[in-house]
Amino acid sequence: MGRISDNFRRIKDSIPDDVQLVAATKSRSADEIKEVIDAGADVIGENYTHPEAVRKHRELGEYADRVRWELIGHLQKNDINKALPIFDRVQTVESLSKAEHIDKRVERAGKEITPVLIEINSGREEAKYGLAPDKDALEEIVEGMRKLEHLRLDGLMTMGPFTGDPEDARPYFEVARELYEYGKTLVDGKDRMEVLSMGMTNSYRVAIEEGANMIRVGTAIFGERD
Ligand SMILES: *Cc1c(COP(=O)(O)O)cnc(C)c1O
Repeated sequence: MGRISDNFRRIKDSIPDDVQLVAATKSRSADEIKEVIDAGADVIGENYTHPEAVRKHRELGEYADRVRWELIGHLQKNDINKALPIFDRVQTVESLSKAEHIDKRVERAGKEITPVLIEINSGREEAKYGLAPDKDALEEIVEGMRKLEHLRLDGLMTMGPFTGDPEDARPYFEVARELYEYGKTLVDGKDRMEVLSMGMTNSYRVAIEEGANMIRVGTAIFGERD
């Protein structure tokens, strides 16, 4: 077993069974991704649809089919047609208009439904995408998405401001958790509020304490990015 496998197993063993560990693989090679899949990773999170994720998905061939792929980076409108065939879920829907653009293109990608998460800009940061952390805003997008037959809402995702100190992230995770609980009262029919994706290498422990049931970890598995 190599370093990547050891890191993956160690993190996996240290978190509760009901927390999904997503291997965040931006800038990692196909060989590194194979190693983490061999170690038991079942969800791969990629940031850049084109060309990075498209190329790696193809390079990985049958390996790619052994796992689920989730888009954890921003989805450009121009990339929707390329993203839908490879990603099993899009975690970064930030507006109703983006949701509508995706919905329109799902069938063309040969699918019936694309599951999505709403990205919450929990720190109200100018430089980040995401829905404002606001109950009315959530209500509006959830109601709008209910009409979109080819999307299924699964839950929420957030990044939160990065300071280096994981404790600084806690209030933002709390904000996302509150919206998540509120979201449970809004969903109906095909839609759900079951996934709360938050926490990265330096903050995943705090995120789990604050209710995350999905964490996205790159550096702690693969080492520092170049
Ligand atoms: C890069 C990235 C991660 C993983 O970050 P690490 O600090 O390397 O664990 C998680 N989520 C998103 C959205 C990312 O872009």
